[in-house]
Amino acid sequence: MWIDTHCHLDAAEFDADRDAVRAQARAQGVALCVIPAVERSHWGSVAQLAARHGDAYALGIHPLYVPQASEDDLLALDQALTERQGDPRLVAVGEIGLDFFVPALCERQWAFYTGQLKLAQKHRLPVILHVRRSADLLLKGLRQCPVGSGIAHAFNGSAQQAQHFADMGLALGFGGALTYDRALQLRRLAVDLPLEALVLETDAPDMPPHWLYQTAEQRAQGQAQGRNTPAELPRIAQVLADLRGMDIQDLAQASTHNACRVLPKLAVLLQAQP
Ligand SMILES: [Zn+2]
Repeated sequence: MWIDTHCHLDAAEFDADRDAVRAQARAQGVALCVIPAVERSHWGSVAQLAARHGDAYALGIHPLYVPQASEDDLLALDQALTERQGDPRLVAVGEIGLDFFVPALCERQWAFYTGQLKLAQKHRLPVILHVRRSADLLLKGLRQCPVGSGIAHAFNGSAQQAQHFADMGLALGFGGALTYDRALQLRRLAVDLPLEALVLETDAPDMPPHWLYQTAEQRAQGQAQGRNTPAELPRIAQVLADLRGMDIQDLAQASTHNACRVLPKLAVLLQAQP
């Protein structure tokens, strides 16, 4: 049994066949998907989607959506988290964080990140963090405003940064990126980290594993980029299990256990599974 701890099932890429995509993942053993929101206009739809498929969701403002966001959205988030307090499917505040691939937005991203950390603390919810060239500042924010637990998703930092996140109660999310032979540093990290620190994710429809990836050249020749889906999770996990030299069943068990530790409401949802 698997948990996809990060899957954008609400994305437009799934508009044509969303139910079939979820059913296919379930057939592959993906018992739960965590659907993080990226902006205010998505909060209602991720909640609905989670209810429809028996999944989990998170509410937040993604750092790359900060330019369109208004201060008012933070008040709205506070209100939404209050209203949905009793919803067992609301498992975290997310997707929040810092993306310094776009350095122009640093200050505004910081204001939204720290504002949302405070809301997570206030509502006693874990966080789902987006990390890109920003691990040290994300850690600084967590030290100023500890939230207890969560996930640093699509982690690609150093071993030392990974350890700091783990010390703050966060698990590191690994997905399609580690299926590439050339991802040497990431693979080393995924092998060296203690098993307790790992959770699995697809980040679908983004981050295609290598077997779905088409190079720019292939795309120019008319081959469509393969769409990543939560059904890929067991195959991605198999790559990690092979890298770590462990049995895939043990990885399934450990990663599920870890996901339930860092997003505690998942444990209740998992028990309610048919
Ligand atoms: Zn995401």
